[in-house]
Amino acid sequence: MKCALCHSLNPLRNSHIIPEFQYKPIYDPKHRLLTISSNPHKRDRYVQKGLREELLCDACEILFSGWEDYSFRVLFGDTAKLHSKTEKTIHLKGIDYPKFKLFLFSLLWRMSVAKGDFWKEVNLGPLEARLRECLLTSDPLTSDEFPCLLCPVLIDGHYDSGWLMPPDKIRVNGCTVYRIIINGILFSFFASSQADQLKLGSYSINEKGEMKLIVEEARQIPYVSQILLALGKAIHQRKDS
Ligand SMILES: [Zn+2]
Repeated sequence: MKCALCHSLNPLRNSHIIPEFQYKPIYDPKHRLLTISSNPHKRDRYVQKGLREELLCDACEILFSGWEDYSFRVLFGDTAKLHSKTEKTIHLKGIDYPKFKLFLFSLLWRMSVAKGDFWKEVNLGPLEARLRECLLTSDPLTSDEFPCLLCPVLIDGHYDSGWLMPPDKIRVNGCTVYRIIINGILFSFFASSQADQLKLGSYSINEKGEMKLIVEEARQIPYVSQILLALGKAIHQRKDS
């Protein structure tokens, strides 16, 4: 089996599709991964070992982990500086655009190349090769190209970083958008070559190193509100255990 990114025949690692750091808060005390599925028959699933696949060689794992470590500090540490804040938006500045954008590309690309059932909604088609090229050449493109909007999701006014929802696919203004909740943050990837016409670069991470996060209540997002009941139950269980 060759590495999905560099196509070398070096031994493959059992790679995380979503980076390791993003699972840590999601493990329960028995080290089972808590996921919440939008499929009513598969709610409150526990995945013992996380969502891994044999995907990348050592060198490509190291490439991705550099972008991931940095992005973790932006999202959950103090690497980014606060530009301004309102009830609905958090405007961050001082972010390294290429590193953060390439992290987002790596996430979207991995979800597309992964074979597991959890990722079945994500299929980039010909754009998969385009993103692979960007990752291999460390090219973040412009902020209007393949933008990703980040939205911390509140549950009854509170943010909880300990939950994950599998990706879904919707159409927005003629663009395919893949959404996934990781650590309580809704990522909306605009995976379309026409997405640049939406001019989302003022919200997504941009060349000025700025990004606006839109804070939203879970019940205002249909994708989330449909499973709010399951979510409330799962989070309740996690806190009790
Ligand atoms: Zn490789």
